[in-house]
Amino acid sequence: MSIPRLQNFINGQPMANKSGETIAVENPATGEEIYHIEVADEHIREAAIESAREAFKIWSATPAVERARVLHRAAALLRERNNELAGYEVQDCGKPLQEAEAVDVVTGADVVEFFASLAPTQVGQQQDLGGDFYYTRKEPLGICAGIGAWNYPLQIACWKSAPALAAGNVMIFKPSEETPRGAVELAKLYIEAGVPAGVFNVVIGAGEVGQWLTNHASIEKISFTGEVPTGKKVVESAASTLKDVTMELGGKSPLLVFEDADISQAVSAAMLGNFFTQGEVCTNCTRVFVHESIMEAFMDELVRRTQNNIVAGDPMNPDVNFGAMISKKHQELVMSYIEKGKQEGARLVTGGTTLSPDDAPDGYFIAPTIFADCTDDMTIVKEEIFGPVMSVLAFTDEDEVIRRANDTPLGLAAGVMTQDVKRAHRVIHQLQAGICWVNSWGASPAEMPVGGYKMSGIGRENGIETLNQYTQTKSVYMGMVDLESPF
Ligand code: NAD
Repeated sequence: MSIPRLQNFINGQPMANKSGETIAVENPATGEEIYHIEVADEHIREAAIESAREAFKIWSATPAVERARVLHRAAALLRERNNELAGYEVQDCGKPLQEAEAVDVVTGADVVEFFASLAPTQVGQQQDLGGDFYYTRKEPLGICAGIGAWNYPLQIACWKSAPALAAGNVMIFKPSEETPRGAVELAKLYIEAGVPAGVFNVVIGAGEVGQWLTNHASIEKISFTGEVPTGKKVVESAASTLKDVTMELGGKSPLLVFEDADISQAVSAAMLGNFFTQGEVCTNCTRVFVHESIMEAFMDELVRRTQNNIVAGDPMNPDVNFGAMISKKHQELVMSYIEKGKQEGARLVTGGTTLSPDDAPDGYFIAPTIFADCTDDMTIVKEEIFGPVMSVLAFTDEDEVIRRANDTPLGLAAGVMTQDVKRAHRVIHQLQAGICWVNSWGASPAEMPVGGYKMSGIGRENGIETLNQYTQTKSVYMGMVDLESPF
């Protein structure tokens, strides 16, 4: 049986490469090759830039209300196709369908809708200067590039393209080579909604295609989601042409569970923040600090619910709530962290093994894993694992836990579980993280800006401020009186 091919999507249609180079994409829950991608070669790359350049002339001159109307149609189509698109995400990522149907496409559509609504609100200002005056215009940047990670492929493509397109820019998007389909589906859907050809092009391939984007002199901005080491390379390369950058990188986020917390709620937060999307979420609270006085009760409920309520298996089965790791290589990496955890003296409470569910025996599963008695110096407590591995640490007082929570070069997210409203604000204001939750974990509505402190990122996605990051201000000074010149 011949394996289907996924082509680059340029100027409103799929485009074949000339090099013939392909990369295989696997379904992580079955280990089967599901299709091959055609890597963007020279011919495709030139066409992507050329069509983006032409499309920018049209799209940037389109009235904002018209851009809004088109993007609202795209959001509606995303919702209409929710089940079909969620299915593709499951096949590419190995995540449970019940999650993809409830979260992935919907949160993408929400963001497209949000920025569509904001598009016509962009206004400049005018100020009199005693005769002369000036005004400002909010102008788009030009050709922007988006580079995505593999954990939320369609959602990331929506989160990057929506503000870019709403502000009148065009975007060339490179999805992860492991999960490229969502972005191509989005490109098709944008065309159907009325977005002009070339406004959203998709180039596919591995890091080398990303590097070409970050180096290209015609690209004004890079919005990147991925690991910290890759992010550093992207910033370095973008600096060669002084591109604007938005960096959404990794985390090692703390959840602080105080002695007055509702224990069931705290367990829910810890489980959501470690086992949702089988632990492959950037904001995960992989360091769970629990006050020593409630440790026993917390651990009892945590272990019971982890052992009883998590159903790993074929992610297309609607009852399954825990999927497979993205690849064999990633499964091995996560297992190597689990081994390090054991070697360095963390107490393995549950999990710690690969899984071979009856209905998905060849998938790259890892059991939800909890380590207790962890200390701050352990590798599993310091490094991002990006898998279902929770480290639980005990603490005794507030100042101590704040200091320990902040003792990391990363700063993506943080959470506090307490019923004391003063403590909640006092503590959260001292935590060095861009996305904070009090008595909650994981919600990321379109309205709320998200992004990292410290090495977890630069700039924000979502929220009103993100639209500004896709515009530049032009000041126009109007001379109404004769120039005074000494020459
Ligand atoms: P990755 O850094 O390996 O790859 C990300 C993207 O960069 C891919 O498309 C890849 O092909 C591309 N790439 C690789 N080398 C490149 C280069 N030199 N120049 C340009 N592009 C290059 O990350 P990943 O493994 O796909 O994703 C997992 C990581 O993403 C985790 O660290 C996770 O925390 C992070 N992440 C962050 C957020 C956030 O919003 N902060 C969201 C999701 C994932």
